Amino acid sequence: MSLETVLSRIDDDLPQALDRLCDLLSIPSISTDPAYKPQCEKAADWLVEDLRSMGVEAEKRPTPGHPMVVGHVPGDGPHVLFYGHYDVQPVDPLELWNRDPFDPAIEVTEKGRVIRGRGASDDKGQLMTFVEACRAWQQVNGSLPCRITFFFEGEEESGSPSLIPFLKENADELRADLALICDTGLFQSRTPSIMTQLRGLLGEEITITGPGKDLHSGMYGGPSMNPIRVLTRILGGLHDDAGRVQVPHFYDDVPELPQDMAEQWQALGFDHEAFLGDVGLKNPAGEADRSALEMIWSRPTAEINGIKGGYTGEGFKTVLPSRASAKVSFRLVGQQDPHALREHFREWVRAQVPADCKVDFHAHGASPASQMSTEHPAFEAARSVLGTEWGDEAAFTGCGGSIPVAGYFKSILGMDAMLLGWAKDDDQIHSPNEKYDVESFHKGIRSWARVLDAITR
Ligand SMILES: [Zn+2]
Repeated sequence: MSLETVLSRIDDDLPQALDRLCDLLSIPSISTDPAYKPQCEKAADWLVEDLRSMGVEAEKRPTPGHPMVVGHVPGDGPHVLFYGHYDVQPVDPLELWNRDPFDPAIEVTEKGRVIRGRGASDDKGQLMTFVEACRAWQQVNGSLPCRITFFFEGEEESGSPSLIPFLKENADELRADLALICDTGLFQSRTPSIMTQLRGLLGEEITITGPGKDLHSGMYGGPSMNPIRVLTRILGGLHDDAGRVQVPHFYDDVPELPQDMAEQWQALGFDHEAFLGDVGLKNPAGEADRSALEMIWSRPTAEINGIKGGYTGEGFKTVLPSRASAKVSFRLVGQQDPHALREHFREWVRAQVPADCKVDFHAHGASPASQMSTEHPAFEAARSVLGTEWGDEAAFTGCGGSIPVAGYFKSILGMDAMLLGWAKDDDQIHSPNEKYDVESFHKGIRSWARVLDAITR
């Protein structure tokens, strides 16, 4: 039967879909607090039952932490895996909530109807948009449009400690042609966006040691080397005047933005003045010849995140310190290899350390960027139908931060991910009074129906 029939089923079923979401939201599945272990189990059980009611072969799968929920539907055509998470953030400070965070309700606000409750947006509401689309599809057609694997995690808000081992142990079962992830938002709360590039991260700590102990600058100042001076000279040389990072080979594996992507980003009308204005700034720093959006989404950076050394307490002390250290991080894009870059950075630092000083390095995290190959026809298919639902044409976007699960799907399962989500900037995820617009929920369900239709047509 036609997509239109599925869409009108979704419209008719919205009140029941909202009831089901509120039911799930009433389970306080706070993953980080061991006291809520039974409630996390309960949320997983709820999802297993709900999937089974749609004919999905679903089960709760134990991990050393909270369980995963895995469900399978056989079918022809592409095999997609859908990912969402059923755990939520803690609710404190409780007194800032206008209602019990686990007694969800539909509230009427100036901006329209919202679902209020912890997890409404992040991520139970978003997760259920996909489930509800499948339910409507199943009810209308008696089956789902393709082979689907449902994969729900219960530890996303507490660092996903079981995710990597679970993916490795169950790789053959979970590997699909494409992953669909619903845990992101609309661009500027309005434009449907398919996130196709997420920056990676490399962290490094450097410590410069000079004299064998702290010295008095009156006694030793002049002839003895000051490690803060060495450190700040190195750090000061990290960028040139045009904002380019000076570590050799830094830009070797940084791709230029393809023309069509550049045009899509241009069309988004990103207001960098408002963006910087919000934090009390005016002028874009960073690479002089790049737009602010390009810098956040598709350019690598080097940032000094902390410096330590000498006396920083009240008053004054004329110390010439024995050591000084700094934490430096790099946001990575394209094919930049974090491990190779770490070595290039260390070599570059070592070459600048004078004979009387030594340098020690301490490695922090290293994760490459996730760059989805938009070659898969599903990406263009999804983009073309989302505009129909939302009015604004959809765009492939980037993300300055990282969404680890997308990277793990790629590195462990060799699977690209399409990140689609309907959250808005004012959803107050992780904060008191979290909400999800009823419109986001409704259009999100309809969007998934359109996407499933488009990628299996
Ligand atoms: Zn989330």
